[in-house]
Amino acid sequence: MNGEKEINVWFEAGLLPTSRHPLNVKVERAEGPFIYGKGKRYVDLISGIAVNIIGHRHPYVIKAVKEQLDRYDHVMVYGDFVLDIQMAYARALTDLLPSSLNTVFFTNSGSEAIDGAIKLARRYTGKAKVIAFKNAYHGSTYGAWTLASHSDITQGMEPLLPEVYHAEFNNIESVKRLIDEHVACVIVEPVQGEAGVVPAKPEFLKELRGLCRDVGALLIFDEVQTAFGRTGSLFAFENYGVIPDVLVLAKALGGGFPLGAFISSKEIMGSLLDPPFGHITTYGGHPISCAAGKATLEVLIEDKIVSEKIPRLENIIKEVFSEELGEVEGVSFTVVGIMGAIHLPEKEITDTVIRRVINEHQIIVDWFLFAETGIRIYPPAIIDEGLLAHSLKTIAGVIKSEINKR
Ligand code: PMP
Repeated sequence: MNGEKEINVWFEAGLLPTSRHPLNVKVERAEGPFIYGKGKRYVDLISGIAVNIIGHRHPYVIKAVKEQLDRYDHVMVYGDFVLDIQMAYARALTDLLPSSLNTVFFTNSGSEAIDGAIKLARRYTGKAKVIAFKNAYHGSTYGAWTLASHSDITQGMEPLLPEVYHAEFNNIESVKRLIDEHVACVIVEPVQGEAGVVPAKPEFLKELRGLCRDVGALLIFDEVQTAFGRTGSLFAFENYGVIPDVLVLAKALGGGFPLGAFISSKEIMGSLLDPPFGHITTYGGHPISCAAGKATLEVLIEDKIVSEKIPRLENIIKEVFSEELGEVEGVSFTVVGIMGAIHLPEKEITDTVIRRVINEHQIIVDWFLFAETGIRIYPPAIIDEGLLAHSLKTIAGVIKSEINKR
């Protein structure tokens, strides 16, 4: 159903697809919650994997990007020239964060920000050990890649970063077995995305916070997927009342343009200056990305998208899933804000449902990296409530028809 034919389209164009499942939707343009291609209009329920939180080409973002483009784009590697747009975006972010998260380093991507955060933790603590969690995904650069516990994706690329250990997510005893005074940092997603939307238990994060404090390790939250309203609050840590030492952001941070960041206190971040050049990036904090990201953040707050719209969308997702799928045997779902997953009983059914939903109904959903029976539902927050409900009912209909065939 999926495979050689689709992969060959890429090779013929001189491109390598590393995806197991290229969706091969041919994109001509995108607007709001829609992607247009091959004469078809698709409803986008994945938002470029948690990127396009206010949909595609939001007019306010386009205006900010154009204004920035008319002033300057790249002028110097990160951290030398004073760029007002970088300053303004860093200030806008830190004004919304606890006072201990007051210093931002902008990167190109989530992976680069994760690597920067690992380097920061080792430099600041003078320790080497890193604890990450099974089924986490933190990115594709060598440091971030090492944090993945799936040996199939890291296979043949060893040696990976030394001194990285994997504990069980939501199992504090497994952390206690690994953590000691040699640990530089513990890195965790408040809601594991690629594991198929698995939220941390509140007690787990609270205890992690305490354990890190006890041994002098930094607690790093990877909020690359979970921030900017995706999980219902602007940042997922707010849902838990647990403040990390380092916050890592990307995806929606750039409002559709490449941008990542790691954020901590001035004291901790200062260790990258001692000695200097602790992390260097050419394009990190690109002015166009900062303009788009800052405009996106403004829309999220001023249009009450985080405070009012996302809770309404969350309710719709929960209601439709409960009504349509609550009684279907073998089907379960998880919804945190507008980050959702439907889990089906078998991988083959999941594959078929995803293909049918996209090809027959022009609704874009996706797989997860590490949850082969899961279907990803990450709608943009600007989606019309009726359109969301209708799209979800359509997906549920396809699921039920496939389950009934069994
Ligand atoms: N952390 C998480 C939780 C992610 O989902 C991703 C990307 N899917 C990354 C880090 C890496 O971000 P990027 O692809 O921008 O390098």
